Amino acid sequence: MINKVQIFYAGYCIHPECMVIKHGQFRKAKFPALFALLEHDKYGSILFDTGYTKRFFSETERFPFNIYSKLTPVVLEDGISAKEILESEGIHASSINYVIISHFHADHIGGLKDFKSAQFVFNSDSYDAVKDKRGISALRSGFLRGLLPENFEERAMPLTDTMKMDISEAAAPFETGYDLFGDKSIILVKLPGHAIGQIGALVTDRDHHEYFFVADAAWRSDAYRQFRPPNPIAYMIIDQRKEYIETLGKLNKLYLRRPELQIIPSHCMEAFGEKIWIT
Ligand SMILES: [Zn+2]
Repeated sequence: MINKVQIFYAGYCIHPECMVIKHGQFRKAKFPALFALLEHDKYGSILFDTGYTKRFFSETERFPFNIYSKLTPVVLEDGISAKEILESEGIHASSINYVIISHFHADHIGGLKDFKSAQFVFNSDSYDAVKDKRGISALRSGFLRGLLPENFEERAMPLTDTMKMDISEAAAPFETGYDLFGDKSIILVKLPGHAIGQIGALVTDRDHHEYFFVADAAWRSDAYRQFRPPNPIAYMIIDQRKEYIETLGKLNKLYLRRPELQIIPSHCMEAFGEKIWIT
């Protein structure tokens, strides 16, 4: 059972709004790099993604990866990596037992090296799509190898068919989920498109509050509420355009069918109640 769900962000990047929402404004907006802490009574502390760390800057110093930090200008103030935020909440990094990796973009895996006792839960399609990439091809996939711990593969816990379950009641039009611990507290759902093999997490806490962390399947809440696909220019960094639109359409249908379910995109400020505009 999940006793507690907390949502934070570690760093943010700055883009004109119109980059991520069709017909958005030219004004510059903040896009936080979300991570969530899920506290399970039996399996302990679990993270969904990790946000940025300072390692993003060291990994993008040199060509071709310096293009990454130019395309997505990142702001990360001192003391706000996931590890530091958790410590300020009284949670030591070594007590994180699992990190769910939605996909392997740098703003989701930035903090993996800080959680030395954690096992890594992911869809093997997403790792297979990037693991052999180097140089420009890694850059095109938004993948910075140096962000992965050396022993990443030893600690890997990819989704398996034995975890499969029908989720149509809770999440139709999504039909299949992966029940991480066999108690339906965290069900992982494939959300392909933005990145090959991306997953989200459907989380139910002890008070029956339901959250659906959808990573980058939608960049903002208005995108799934109003079914607003991104600006065509954003498809440059989207792996599979057709699947992206399909997944966003399903999120829109799910929202209309079950508005009480909290659908949380990773880069939406709404969950934090902060202003998005850079003045
Ligand atoms: Zn991404």
